[in-house]
Amino acid sequence: MKLNVLKVLVVAVLISVTAFAQEFITIGSGSTTGVYFPVATGIAKLISDASFGLKANARATGGSVFNINALNSGELQMALAQNDIAYYAFNGTGIPAFEGKPVKSIRSIAVLYPEVIHIVARADAKIESVADLKGKRVVVGDVGSGTEQNTKQVLEAYGLKFEDLGQTIRVGASQGVGLLQDGRADVLFYTVGLGASAIQQLALTTKITIVPVDFARISALSKKYPFYAIFNIPGGVYSGVEITTPTVAVLSMLLASESLSADAVYKAMKATFDDLGAFKKIHPNLDKYFDLKKAVKNLPVPLHPGAEKYWREKGLLK
Ligand code: GLU
Repeated sequence: MKLNVLKVLVVAVLISVTAFAQEFITIGSGSTTGVYFPVATGIAKLISDASFGLKANARATGGSVFNINALNSGELQMALAQNDIAYYAFNGTGIPAFEGKPVKSIRSIAVLYPEVIHIVARADAKIESVADLKGKRVVVGDVGSGTEQNTKQVLEAYGLKFEDLGQTIRVGASQGVGLLQDGRADVLFYTVGLGASAIQQLALTTKITIVPVDFARISALSKKYPFYAIFNIPGGVYSGVEITTPTVAVLSMLLASESLSADAVYKAMKATFDDLGAFKKIHPNLDKYFDLKKAVKNLPVPLHPGAEKYWREKGLLK
């Protein structure tokens, strides 16, 4: 009799443990004043709110390079990253962080929205072209950011290196904005979705200009860096900058670690993409640019098996 009671208890405990077993997904993002952070936070909420036994949270990080390394080490299960950086990582080419050190454990979920190379200067620094950056104090991007890599490549397209700058400042966007506001830096590079709050805040307190990038110069390096597309930053996006500025852009992606189960990825995607209205409400960049057909086009790394199942069911893969 006693033994039976014990058995029942053990079974009851086991059932309740299984019922409440939840898989945790940490989504790597970027600086809190970028676009990755609010997007990852919104996706985490959709995942946690769905009753699929998954809980997710967003983590502020240095950006794409950090996120990919952290997916590989198991610190993150999902992350946002630039398509160019994901490609260089998977293939072990292109940028020093991954040269000869391919990261084969990352998988695609979806392409999200354009990430625009913003070169923001204090108006009083009188910078009209990238060539004028020689000797200037430049915030080149956070340690572990995709921004830093794009900064290096854009400078290279104009025949410049970090050593040609007066100062190479590796800090995140929030800190970088503070340095420009205080007059301790002249220029900030930021590869980020249009309207990032860091740049909007800066524009409200400091007279800024946006330095154009000449696509012809970038396309001269297209064999080495094939991911740049032409992009115009419309006038009026940032207060006081009324003219449209030509520059270049890459794309943001949602990635997962290969070690996250196909079931978890599939469920996370159902929670994220089934109600596209709710997904697009997360951020204006998703509302304006996220497109199901583009979400699975030109992926720089293979799809996660869970993502493949989801997109196939949606009719987006043959
Ligand atoms: N693309 C940036 C990077 O990887 C991050 C942008 C963001 O935080 O929205 O450096």
